[in-house]
Amino acid sequence: MSNMEPQLLSLPPPPRVLIFPFPCQGHVNSMLNLAQLLCLSGLHVTFLNSDHNHDRLVRHTDIQARFACYPGFQFNTITDGLPVEHPREGESILELCFSVNSITRPLFREMLVSGQFGLVNCIIADGIMGYTIDIANELGIPIFHFRTISACSFWAFFSIPQLIEAGEIPIKERCVFVTTEGNEDMDALVKSVPGMETFLRSRDLPSFCRCSDVSNPVLQLVKNETQQSPRARALILNTFEDLEGPILSQIRTQCPTTYTIGPLHAHRKTRLAKHATNTLQSSSNSSSLWEVDRSCMTWLDQQPLLSVVYISFGSLAVLTRDQLIEFWYGVVNSKKNFLWVRRLDSTPGNKEGESEDIPVELVEGTKERGYMVGWAPQEEVLAHKAVGGFLTHSGWNSTLESIVAGVPMVCWPYFADQQVNSRFVSEVWKLGVDMKDLCDRTIVEQMLNDLMVERREEFVKSTAEMVGLSRRSVSEGGSSYCNFDRLIEDIKLMSMESPQC
Ligand code: UDP
Repeated sequence: MSNMEPQLLSLPPPPRVLIFPFPCQGHVNSMLNLAQLLCLSGLHVTFLNSDHNHDRLVRHTDIQARFACYPGFQFNTITDGLPVEHPREGESILELCFSVNSITRPLFREMLVSGQFGLVNCIIADGIMGYTIDIANELGIPIFHFRTISACSFWAFFSIPQLIEAGEIPIKERCVFVTTEGNEDMDALVKSVPGMETFLRSRDLPSFCRCSDVSNPVLQLVKNETQQSPRARALILNTFEDLEGPILSQIRTQCPTTYTIGPLHAHRKTRLAKHATNTLQSSSNSSSLWEVDRSCMTWLDQQPLLSVVYISFGSLAVLTRDQLIEFWYGVVNSKKNFLWVRRLDSTPGNKEGESEDIPVELVEGTKERGYMVGWAPQEEVLAHKAVGGFLTHSGWNSTLESIVAGVPMVCWPYFADQQVNSRFVSEVWKLGVDMKDLCDRTIVEQMLNDLMVERREEFVKSTAEMVGLSRRSVSEGGSSYCNFDRLIEDIKLMSMESPQC
């Protein structure tokens, strides 16, 4: 036996981090990317998925293969508190927020106390589940909060108490899903979100602010959970300094240790390329909870360069039939080629196999220039050379994916953080146009025309600049790259405090 061996044997195992996302597609996507980055840095990771999402993830991806090469990685599951048949989308997503708070919360504590996760040295919990801090503190486990939204949205959420204090919310007699077209009040500038005084309008506030009363349970939930983040050891955000620097300075007045490590999907790629072995490279990166229809890639291959508008409203938005028809006419009338993701459940009453009674000119227009799928490999689609524009609901993952791919956006925010994101895309970053609160075929047509033709040059320039900055941030020496290295060191240091160590 050499002298080295006894020492090696006594080395403690790497810290184990428990990652706990809110059970939605966008949250799971970015937290799985974070999980893989931690694994690549040699940490052990337990990923706590909802039973519901885990079943779907295993069914529709090769997620087990993606993580099989990390011996310290494991999945655990927990209930999200809803019955299997619950739709978990559109307005009903609010029920998920409440069930996670009332049902999952005590169970999470119980699982930790009873040692069901084994050794846990550190928790990285989704910041929308603010209660995780109390549980971690009670058990003496260091905890970080990860918010899967943009810094600008986080800051708007964080400013809700000031907005209430100043009487800027509730936005009078409006509720989350009501159309606000033509309401001048909605265009008034809001003064209580520091750093956004010159461009943020009532209309751009998070959708929960459109309620009749400040005691609205959703507004209260978002406010209360977001206020918890300064109590975590640190805040982790999926963004980068060159994109959101000024707002990050505001956030750091309240959460001094804020790590920006995004765009995570691009960061993951950089680190993977460094560590690459054949096994790592061969597994796909899909985290989809729906079956991906790859036939759209073959269709894209046949389309001219930058000619296609990609249309997707993410995993949660539900369009009314009127909205669907207005979008459809707008897109067909614009005469642009289009690839449209229409989840089967994205229009109420739309059931598999049932005919939808769609006007014949839309059916014909789609045959001529369009292609529709139920779910697409979005990152790949946005990176395809045929794609020249994105009609999006401004979810944060979609926005970052578009930024990295250099694709300009027409934004039609649906709810939550998306109202803020779309304002930044159009007014601050100048990466597209904002169609917020309007859904009219002539406006859809006009905005697609602006994006693809009239203002094309302007957007080509602004998106190309941002591609450079986003890629630099996750390259060796870039801000997100260095912040992530710092985060790993901090996790290692803090893990030594854990009583389970
Ligand atoms: N997505 C996908 N295929 C689709 C539509 C969406 O892979 O056909 C992915 C997309 O790449 C993104 C996520 O689903 O990572 C949606 O997250 P986002 O934050 O944009 O919106 P949300 O679904 O949370 O509203």
